[in-house]
Amino acid sequence: MSTRLVLFGPPGVGKGTQAALLQQRLRLNPISSGDIFRKEIEAETDLGRMATRYIERGELVPNGVTIEMMAKRLRQDDVRQHGFVLDGFPRTVKQAEALDEILLKMDFGLTKVISIEVPDEVVLHRLAGRMGCTKCGEIYHREDKLPKREGLCDKCNGPLFVRADDQPDTIMERLRVFHETTEPVIDYYLKSGLLQRVNGTMGPEETYAQIVSDLIHVMSEVS
Ligand code: AMP
Repeated sequence: MSTRLVLFGPPGVGKGTQAALLQQRLRLNPISSGDIFRKEIEAETDLGRMATRYIERGELVPNGVTIEMMAKRLRQDDVRQHGFVLDGFPRTVKQAEALDEILLKMDFGLTKVISIEVPDEVVLHRLAGRMGCTKCGEIYHREDKLPKREGLCDKCNGPLFVRADDQPDTIMERLRVFHETTEPVIDYYLKSGLLQRVNGTMGPEETYAQIVSDLIHVMSEVS
């Protein structure tokens, strides 16, 4: 039985880090809408060019193209066989409804929706100092988690970079969009009884422990 999770929360809360841990330790398949957009931008596709305009302003890419892009990814064989951990999707109630429809057509449901919760000041601090590895995606921080050698990843030696949308004005806009448009998705999932709220203010391992304590239980029930 495959596991199908949604990781939900504001930008910078650590969804990507948790998705990577779930991949390493439970062999779950991470799918990040932000990463798919960034790959489209790098490949200079029409979708990438369109998405750039929104991403660089900290706004959401319109629902229509986002849903189409994610539907395409979710229908691929690896997802059918091994399930997924969604990071960054759904971000609107419309996207949450579309996800239900896509999964229904595939005869699937979600296993759980995990909401990682932190106060805004923590998000601002984390995003303002965030650096990521261009090769393996490991995340560092200018104050809290410096790499051993400046500008280089401890794990794979890859060069580190600061995301173009991790600039102060854009960060504020992304947080505003989260509260206004994305947070209502929590109510949508509360009604379905799938929601698990976890405290994201501690380190990645503490957050991971909260996620799996509940998940192992659910996974053993369905297998
Ligand atoms: P992320 O890497 O998840 O922080 O996403 C980076 C940016 O990509 C966001 O600020 C949005 O502009 C765009 N994006 C990612 N996922 C979505 C989504 N589900 N709906 C709309 N825009 C998205």
